[in-house]
Amino acid sequence: MFLYILAVFFSVPSYGAIAPATQSNSIQLVRVSLGTHSKVFLNSIDLIANGEKIFEGPAYLDLRCTQNKYGENYFYLPGSQKRYTLVNLQSPSQIISVNKMPYRGTITLQASPEGCLVVNTLPIEQYLFGLINKEMPSSWPMEALKAQAVAARSYALSRIEKRKNLPFDVEPTTADQVYEGVKAETAKARQAVMSTRNQILERTGKVFTAYFHANCGGKTDTPENVWGRKEAGFTSVYCPFHKNKTNKNSWSISLSFDQIGAALRKISSQAKSVIKIARLDTRPEKNGNRQAQVLLSDTSGRQLEIPAAEFRQALGNTKMKSTIFELDQNTKTNEVKIRGQGYGHGVGMCQIGAKQLAILGKTYREILSFYYPLAQISLLK
Ligand SMILES: [Zn+2]
Repeated sequence: MFLYILAVFFSVPSYGAIAPATQSNSIQLVRVSLGTHSKVFLNSIDLIANGEKIFEGPAYLDLRCTQNKYGENYFYLPGSQKRYTLVNLQSPSQIISVNKMPYRGTITLQASPEGCLVVNTLPIEQYLFGLINKEMPSSWPMEALKAQAVAARSYALSRIEKRKNLPFDVEPTTADQVYEGVKAETAKARQAVMSTRNQILERTGKVFTAYFHANCGGKTDTPENVWGRKEAGFTSVYCPFHKNKTNKNSWSISLSFDQIGAALRKISSQAKSVIKIARLDTRPEKNGNRQAQVLLSDTSGRQLEIPAAEFRQALGNTKMKSTIFELDQNTKTNEVKIRGQGYGHGVGMCQIGAKQLAILGKTYREILSFYYPLAQISLLK
């Protein structure tokens, strides 16, 4: 059991930083944030901390990451009087469990005012082992899984380049890509990763941010249309697999104007000025099949324009599944039914479409060039 000792007379080591993942001996590493926790339970075998063996055999560590009354952030490892602000843990077994979830690679703990930031650093191919089955069911055709592996590898690399100065490269959620470590691995997911090993999408010599989504609803979209920011290399493509009911992914949600107002106020400073919604209108994209804006009119006659992607985010991306929608509102009861189809932002590869192309006998290369026609498959340098 961990013993918390207030040994304030010891000097606290300087606040460390988690080194960016680098490419050494041709192995590209990726740093995945496992969140910030005030308590962390770790277990492994023959645990090594900052290069020093601290446990022979099974190790169970119950850590508390708290701030003392002097505002100092640090933690102790069981059996040690040494204060840590940053520790890198590894095991010859290559597996360390964090809060009962096993991960490959190393685990870094960094003390912060909010608790311990836990980061899992591992080779990118092993990261993909624990990701593919969370992003695309392993029951789907192998060529679709391989296309997913190349897209996910490219996306991760683009984040590594972008977040060099941050303590981690990716989050293990839909904010980036869903990753759940060893528990999520399947033989098919590993096969899809290893048979496309080191393959990425590139454009003009640079790694391509290969966004993907579950269901485009009939046409993919561009970052400019969806997020209002230009990113070269994307084009909208017709995806001919959404005519039948299963692939249409129709959805609907019913909400009151008050619920929508409350949800919008949480994420939009503009919406804070809107007291009571009186009606909602939509403005479609000029050259797409999605809504671009939602127009909010309040009871005092003020109007506010909210980007449709922000409106979706406010209501919850898993509830309001896409920005392909129509509003059916009742201004007497102040309620609205939102009916839509598709799932996800719509940029890049449509996963349902990738599955259908694979069923038709297309290779992963053909699938990737269908959804990313302006990018090329290349090898990780
Ligand atoms: Zn599609």
